[in-house]
Amino acid sequence: MYLCTNFFRMIKISFPDGQVREYEKGISPMDIALSISEGLARNVLSAKVNDVVVDASSKINEDAKIQLLTWNDEDGKKTYWHSSAHLMAEAIESLYPGTKFGIGPAIENGFYYDIDLGGKEFGSDQFKEIEEKMIELAKAKNEFIRSDVSKNDAIAYFKEKGDEYKLELLEGLEDGSITFYQQGNFTDLCKGPHIPQTGLIKAVKLLSVAGAYWRGDETRKQMTRIYAITFPKAKELEEYLFLLEEAKKRDHRKLGKELELFAFSEKVGMGLPLWLPKGTLLRERLENFLRRAQIRAGYSPVVTPHIASKELYVTSGHYAKYGKDAFQPIRTPEEGEEFFLKPMNCPHHCEIYKTKPRSYKDLPLRLAEFGTVYRYEQHGELHGLTRVRGFTQDDAHIFCRPDQVEGEFMKVIDLVLYVFKALGFTEYSAQVSLRDKENREKYIGSDEDWDKAEASIIRSAQEKGLPTVVEYGEAAFYGPKLDFMVKDALGRKWQLGTIQVDYQLPQRFELEYTGSDNLKHRPVMIHRAPFGSLERFVAILIENTGGNFPLWLSPDQLAVLPISEKYEDYANELFLRLQEQDLRGYVDHRDEKIGRKIRDAEVHKVPFMIIVGEKEQAEGLVSIRKKGHGDLGSMTLEAFMALAQEEIHQLTFNSQQ
Ligand SMILES: [Zn+2]
Ligand SMILES: [Zn+2]
Repeated sequence: MYLCTNFFRMIKISFPDGQVREYEKGISPMDIALSISEGLARNVLSAKVNDVVVDASSKINEDAKIQLLTWNDEDGKKTYWHSSAHLMAEAIESLYPGTKFGIGPAIENGFYYDIDLGGKEFGSDQFKEIEEKMIELAKAKNEFIRSDVSKNDAIAYFKEKGDEYKLELLEGLEDGSITFYQQGNFTDLCKGPHIPQTGLIKAVKLLSVAGAYWRGDETRKQMTRIYAITFPKAKELEEYLFLLEEAKKRDHRKLGKELELFAFSEKVGMGLPLWLPKGTLLRERLENFLRRAQIRAGYSPVVTPHIASKELYVTSGHYAKYGKDAFQPIRTPEEGEEFFLKPMNCPHHCEIYKTKPRSYKDLPLRLAEFGTVYRYEQHGELHGLTRVRGFTQDDAHIFCRPDQVEGEFMKVIDLVLYVFKALGFTEYSAQVSLRDKENREKYIGSDEDWDKAEASIIRSAQEKGLPTVVEYGEAAFYGPKLDFMVKDALGRKWQLGTIQVDYQLPQRFELEYTGSDNLKHRPVMIHRAPFGSLERFVAILIENTGGNFPLWLSPDQLAVLPISEKYEDYANELFLRLQEQDLRGYVDHRDEKIGRKIRDAEVHKVPFMIIVGEKEQAEGLVSIRKKGHGDLGSMTLEAFMALAQEEIHQLTFNSQQ
């Protein structure tokens, strides 16, 4: 009898590694962690129970899947940083009583809290006292205590406190769903989850302060937004601050100017980059590199105009969707003609597909274009080369039969990974966006085609060993897609290329092919761009390498530095021979000391310095310095050229240089 009741009080908990253990009903993730090891329990921040992130102290009453979250999990960090926002609010409230609080979410790196100081001055010189207060409060190891509150009680609490922001947030909440979290003397309206106690927060840094409109509405009150970050170890904060400094040094807007790659002119217009000679050549090298890889992979290059008639975008559906937000129409003197700047290349490529009848044997047809497109972005959204109004996509559209989707996906992934490797991105992952399982009717295309395409994308990503996250409900209504993310040398994540399946455009443009059954069929269209855009890609490349490009891309590969004017003829002669081998760079003829010439070449990130003086000229040798490596000693010019050519052909490089 006893055994029997006990049996009903047990639940099965399954772990990410597939293990299943039995626990008593009502057990918390923290107790589960303790049953494994005390060390683990010390590090548990929150837990994912059946895919929902909850407090480590929450109770589990039925069979469940569990993942214990620590600092090493994105969701664990989120819990940690959001809890730190509460701690910062507590510190601010104790230092500036009467402060009102808006919202305080975790963000990608750290957290912020929007506060209303009631007109009190606030600036970065006040950061230190808040940081110190936070550390003091953290040391008290106060628990984060969750409580269910009725809507009436919640309203009464914030009325008494006089916080109209929380009162407004409460208006949108339903009675019975409202929870408070309290730590120490601070209570916040919050749905959680939170970390077990404040003592886990060991290092604190307030980063910046900015104005932010309440609820993002510029007609509402401007609040003070304080950005901050916290860590479980002081050393981690130090490392983060170091990376932040590094990131400033690598800012592509700063380096782009110093290396004379690109510029902006207000007269030309905001968000419209001007490519300078060195940047243009760099861009051309990237294009040629991809062009060659694409020709090998069976793509056919095409070129289409920068504008197109309104009709094209009415057919494609872009006019109805983006018409009023896009650039204004261009009207010609001829009546009734209306053109638009091209926002994407796909409709043009559909028209190329239609230039002749296609048979199943002609497919796949892969049309590639470095197509420059224009999109309206608000002033405030523009940022260096990463958010611009005119940019060139390394675009291609693959028109294929439904049974070819998987094979084409594999080939595109191969191409993208080849590009990543050649450009030094060694850490990458993919996000696969699929339909919302519950609402299949909101997607166009047959259920059968979708099922096949979705399975194909997941299979191709697995087969190619891509670390992949699958997101349901993230697909566009016209097809599933795969996005590539890369991690740069500073650990920052960037979204790069996309592969997108499209069932809609072939339908709107009535694209067809004759099948082996002699009947008309509709092809599937795949949009893909490994770089995304050349502008964005160059920006990411600059930030990843800090301007130390791989040798094959480097604007100047070498600088010949004569020690004095006596050796200029020898320097010129060497340079001619280097140019014959397609090695590029310059001879520094200036009447400067050699130390200065070396320093300047280093500032301009020139990979090789070829130093020539009396000894070199007499022996017919060159002395080589390599950026990041120092002196390589003296050698014959032939030996140097062999060394440089080998590095160019390796197509890999060390981004840490
Ligand atoms: Zn909270
Ligand atoms: Zn497209």
